[in-house]
This record gives sequence, C-alpha cells and structure tokens, in this order.
Amino acid sequence: MKAVIIGSGMAGLGAAQRLREGGVEPVLYDKNTFPGGHTASFRHASGFVFDDGPHVSFTKNRRLQDLLADNVGGAFETLQCRVNNYWRGHWIKHPAQCNLYGLPAELVDTIVAEFAALAEAPSGEIANYADWLRASYGETFSRTFPMEYGRKYHTCGAEEMTTEWLGPRLYRPDLEEVRYGATHDATPDVHYVTHFRYPTEDGFYAYPRPWVEKADLHLGWELTEVEPKARRLRFANGVETGYDALISSVPLPALIPMIAGVPDEVKAAAELLACTRCVTVNVGIDREGVSEHHWTYFYDDDYFFTRLSFPHLFSPRNVPAGTSAIQAECYYSDKYRPLDVTPDECIDRVLADLRRCGLLREDDRILMTEARPIRWANIIFDLDRAAALATVHGFLDEIGIRYAGRYGEWGYLWTDQSFASGERAAERALGG
Ligand SMILES: Cc1cc2nc3c(=O)[nH]c(=O)nc-3n(C[C@H](O)[C@H](O)[C@H](O)COP(=O)(O)OP(=O)(O)OC[C@H]3O[C@@H](n4cnc5c(N)ncnc54)[C@H](O)[C@@H]3O)c2cc1C
Repeated sequence: MKAVIIGSGMAGLGAAQRLREGGVEPVLYDKNTFPGGHTASFRHASGFVFDDGPHVSFTKNRRLQDLLADNVGGAFETLQCRVNNYWRGHWIKHPAQCNLYGLPAELVDTIVAEFAALAEAPSGEIANYADWLRASYGETFSRTFPMEYGRKYHTCGAEEMTTEWLGPRLYRPDLEEVRYGATHDATPDVHYVTHFRYPTEDGFYAYPRPWVEKADLHLGWELTEVEPKARRLRFANGVETGYDALISSVPLPALIPMIAGVPDEVKAAAELLACTRCVTVNVGIDREGVSEHHWTYFYDDDYFFTRLSFPHLFSPRNVPAGTSAIQAECYYSDKYRPLDVTPDECIDRVLADLRRCGLLREDDRILMTEARPIRWANIIFDLDRAAALATVHGFLDEIGIRYAGRYGEWGYLWTDQSFASGERAAERALGG
C-alpha cells in the first residue's frame, strides 16, 4: 500500500507512527519549510526560544505521557500551573468566578447575589454559549468576564457560539466556592490544567522531533490538487504522485477546494467553517522575573492582546541567563474580525500595552521582538459549524480521504488528541 500523509504536525506524525507499526512506510509532505506544524519551536539569534503560540503538555493519557517522555530521554520540566487574569488594573487568580477577591466591592456583591439567585431560578433553554454563561454564572459576571474575553479570543459574540467545545474549560463553582473566593485571596486550584510538562531543551518541538527524524518527510511541498477517482495528488512544485491511502491534516476550508469534482454544496459548507488567526508577538527582556505566572488572560477590550505567556517559566533554557520572555497572542478571523494590522504595528501596540499594565518598565532593555502570524489557530464553534462540518466530513468519507488532527476533525484538539486522531485515521487506512 502506498500511504501518503499531508502535514507533519502531531496528526501527521501520529498517523505515520501507527502506519509503521502496521508495516506500512508512509511518505509525508508538508508545505512548510520546517517540520512539526504547530509544535515547531524557533530559536532566535539572540538565544530566545519561542513556540508557535504557547505549547505545554497537560495530557492525562499515560501512554502519550510516556511516549513524549521517551522522546526527550526523560529531560522535561514538570510544573504546577500558575495562571492569572488581568481586568481593569486588577490581577486576580484564575478562574475569575471563584477568585473575585480584590475586585470593586459593588461588582463582587452583585455577582455573588446573582450567583445565589441562580439556585432558585428555573433553568431556561440553552440555545447558545451566551445562554449557558448566564445560566452558569448570572448576567453580571458573564458580561464582565467570559463574554468580554470570548469576543477577543473567539472573535465573535457568545450568542453566535454553541457549547459543544466547553468540556472542562469553564469551571462551574458552587455558591460556597464563589463566596469563599470573594472574601479570601488564597483559594484552592480548580483550573482544569493543574500541572504540565515541557521539554527542558529546545522548546516544545523536542517532543515530536524523534518522530520527525524517523519520517520520510518532504518539506516545502504544498498540496494543491487531489484527484480522488484516479487517486492522484499534485503539488505546487508541479510534481504528481499516486496514493492508495491518503491521510490529510490540511485545514478543511483549504483542502476542499483542491478536490476535483467537489459538489457546490460541499464547497459552500467548507466556506462556512470559521477559524481564528493569531499574531504572536515575541519579546525578549534584559531582566529576570518579569512574571511569576505561566500565562495571563487579558479581559479588557482596549488591551491589544488576549493572552500572555512567559516562556522562561516553561524552561529556563528557553532564554539566555538573566533574561525573561513574553509571548503575546492577538486574535482575528476572516469571518468575524479580519486582520487589520501589520506585524510592526502589532509589536508597537503589544509593547505599549505591556508598559501600560506594568509588566514592562520604562527602563527595561528589549533584547528582541518579532511578530509571527499563525494562519490557522482555534476553530470557532459558531452556529454554522455542526451542519457544515457534517456535510464536509460526509463528502470526504464518500471519496475515501481520511482526515485527522485539529484542522481535519475541525475541533478543539490538543497536541495529544491530534496525535491520537492521526493514529485513528491510520488505523482506518490499515483496514481496522
Ligand atoms: C496558539 C495555540 C496554542 C496552543 N497551545 C497548546 C498547548 O498548550 N497544548 C496542547 O496540547 N495543544 C496546544 N495547541 C493545539 C495544538 O497546536 C494542536 O492540537 C496540534 O498541534 C495540531 O496538530 P495538527 O497536526 O492537527 O495540525 P498542524 O500542527 O497545523 O499540522 C498541519 C500541517 O499540515 C501542513 N499543511 C497544511 N496545508 C498543507 C498543504 N496544502 N500541503 C502540504 N502541507 C500542508 C501544515 O504546514 C502543517 O505543518 C495550541 C494551538 C494554538 C493555535
């Protein structure tokens, strides 16, 4: 069997591993000139290492934990997660709903009273994410925190989203926890990520690197056409090749228009699938200890970035001695908030807001800055997604193209889940 995998991210690598175990040696193609997809890490000339957006491993899957640990020869950091929030000049622990201590008293009283009233209120119909938020936390908290943050992170309003993606992401405290967090500054950790692991050397990419080294991988090969009847592929460099089994981790809205004979309704469905873009702004600072938190959520809509993370806290080897690093994430989407800034403007606005919130001091020496765009970031679970996805997946199933990973399954998959998704696609290709 000639098996072809498109993409060398976690999904492509999971598929390759599983095919090899089944006795098939696949060929992988990636349009990027570097391997790993979103798990890539980049070492800057000044010695700073930044990932393609902050990446840490918090998988609870023991098999994957062991595989990743083996891949780095046991050289990884195990860290207890420290996460906080910034809102109108206040820094509070995450999640905000059970850490209201220190916020304006009137706001806290209203939130606690509304939360208490929820227990008495009849639970209404939940038609979208906004309904779910109001039913879980009451009006004031929902409007002030998750709705404001969501508009920045998902780029659309909570009314425009479903709830399928929630899983454990938004913690639902009981009234006692809300009251306790409103009156105490030390509270139990209830974030769904309590601990994470991160390679000691070379950034997150150290985890998948041994899989990449084993793969028959062609970098800089962009798939442009798929002929499913003839089972042929064409690449941007003009080369054609055949396949018996095709596993794709290409984002669905990019894959569908490449397929010969795709019906109009499938094309139209693929166009409805929405995904955020992200611009990451990386900053190296000539000072230790810029933050004690691994990442911080920024709620205020006049702050340019949505989230900050601090790579020197993931591994001290991510930065030169005596320095710190900040990675800012700024989100856009073609459907809801088109990208309207240049990379240089992003850097300037990020630096200005880092100074405004006090993380950067006026006398800090900036050792490096760069802006890196991420074309495909987070799937937007808007009201169009489910029906459009069923149409697209149904078509791919019919023509025998296996899809895998975050952008093939079109879900909120983490690295471990994307790897497992690739393994499942391979299993099906092997006839399992
Ligand atoms: C900002 C951000 C932060 C994240 N943080 C975490 C985290 O902390 N922990 C975690 O576990 N997960 C995290 N994730 C999720 C994680 O990145 C994904 O689950 C995983 O990396 C997806 O792997 P994939 O192989 O499905 O997709 P990708 O990594 O995107 O791989 C797809 C590959 O296909 C290639 N490709 C696309 N089109 C073509 C084409 N036409 N021809 C050839 N090749 C093509 C791409 O170049 C790419 O290399 C984060 C994601 C983002 C965006």
